Amino acid sequence: MSNQRTQASDATAVTDPVLRVEGLEKRFGGIVAVDGASFEVERGSITGLIGPNGAGKSTTFNCITGVHRPNGGSIVFDGQEITGESPERIANRGLVRTFQIARELPEMTVLENMMLGPKDQLGESIWRSVAPIARREVVEEEKRLRERAWETLELFEIDHLAHEYAGSLSGGQRKLLELARALLTDPEMLLLDEPMAGVNPSLEKKLLERIHDLREDGYSFLIVEHDMDVIMNHCERVIVMHQGQVLAEGLPEEIQSNEAVIEAYLGGDV
Ligand code: ADP
Ligand code: MG
Repeated sequence: MSNQRTQASDATAVTDPVLRVEGLEKRFGGIVAVDGASFEVERGSITGLIGPNGAGKSTTFNCITGVHRPNGGSIVFDGQEITGESPERIANRGLVRTFQIARELPEMTVLENMMLGPKDQLGESIWRSVAPIARREVVEEEKRLRERAWETLELFEIDHLAHEYAGSLSGGQRKLLELARALLTDPEMLLLDEPMAGVNPSLEKKLLERIHDLREDGYSFLIVEHDMDVIMNHCERVIVMHQGQVLAEGLPEEIQSNEAVIEAYLGGDV
């Protein structure tokens, strides 16, 4: 465990954590990707997760969402231990990450991608977990999902693209679609891994507006992002990872002036 870690000041401590990660460890053979990382995410916040390439951010996301089984540590979501659970179960609890649109899906329309959304992201299990239901109910369920898909596309202002192939969307429109799709799983908390990568400024603005709207509605966000302007201007709290550990966490201004963070990360190319 790191002892150089900087604690947030009392005034800025997390008071109502929606997510608690404690002593998280993940190894790949001889590589220690996550090395005892501990942090908390305040309920209803937009929290940034930053750090140099290879710091263990994506692996942390993968452990939290059940893609990887951690070698040690614990993950508590909404007061319940979820460590080692399947991605389906974790998503059903309301903790989801956005997924890049898989290779075959560009040949489907935006609306079809939305309809596939929950099923594609979570596997068949949420559908199978529903007791056998009458065909009429299946039809009604599909109708309900279709309505929600349209509403969500409208919310993200990409409803005019509903019948376009997903493969013809710009990078930014794709990111909006990925976020829209994740919302159909009824999440409480969203993990976004580099949501602004390859997004033009006007769509970036739109994406950030939607994230703020959703936050107002009570959703919690943990966002990995390299764009420091986005992190410093839009996140209420920031967690810094370095070499698989949490180097610092606190308010953006605390992070920006933190010597260890400047040395490990900010001092470089930013
Ligand atoms: P970040 O997202 O902060 O750039 P990652 O979590 O992707 O960092 O990677 C942390 C370390 O773990 C890196 O050294 C990376 O090469 C290694 N790593 C990540 N995923 C795997 C994997 N599936 N197999 C082997 N090594 C991996
Ligand atoms: Mg990464």
